[in-house]
Amino acid sequence: MKRKKKENTLWAKAKHSLERDYGYICSNPHSKRDKLKRGFINIGLGGIIPDVIGIKDIGNQYEPKIEIITIEVKENLPNYKERHMDQVRRSSIFAHKVFLAAPREFKPEEVELAVKERVGLFELNPDKQKLKLIVPSPPFEPAENKVIELMRRLEYYKCGVCNCYWNKNLINITGYRPMHAFSEDENTKFVKFICEKCSSKLYDLHHKNLKEKFAEEWKFTKLKKKVDSVTFQFKKAKSKLKSI
Ligand SMILES: [Zn+2]
Repeated sequence: MKRKKKENTLWAKAKHSLERDYGYICSNPHSKRDKLKRGFINIGLGGIIPDVIGIKDIGNQYEPKIEIITIEVKENLPNYKERHMDQVRRSSIFAHKVFLAAPREFKPEEVELAVKERVGLFELNPDKQKLKLIVPSPPFEPAENKVIELMRRLEYYKCGVCNCYWNKNLINITGYRPMHAFSEDENTKFVKFICEKCSSKLYDLHHKNLKEKFAEEWKFTKLKKKVDSVTFQFKKAKSKLKSI
């Protein structure tokens, strides 16, 4: 129990530094769930539960892109071994960067092992609540569906139209089950979302199209009436001419 508690305070310190010094979002203050409000601590997928998760938008002006970072915070151990690094790397199933953090300096052989095992290292100074980057994490490319699933757990929903992630507590998000070639009926197992902005834009476009369509129909009806009346006049004139 004591060990658990010690790790817990280190988790909060690592989270604090990740937010302050590295610009990651590590909590959802708008959530109704206390756990998410406090921080993305001890949350994961399929039994892979990193100590701290941070998210950041690293996209450009044309496309959003989410970066997920995970940290496994270890207490002061005599040696950090291969199995510790293995545990860290497992998070790369949904994270783009994975780190081991420890409250002491790393030995040269540990640094070497981290590079070999493809994990990053942070030295954590608990008094200053500061993470010092020792070894950067290699970039990982987690599957998109895993990223979406994790983000949903943190209450960020991906819009299928604009690809943006939206805090579900701040915006109306419409969910629906789209048609799928491999589903036997209309009930697909997955749900897609559209954000408020995209749905109002789609509505506007649809509305504009309808308006244009009606305008055209109306113009055509008017023209047809004109033609009918001219034809009628012509026929009338013709029959008059015949009778003379
Ligand atoms: Zn959208």
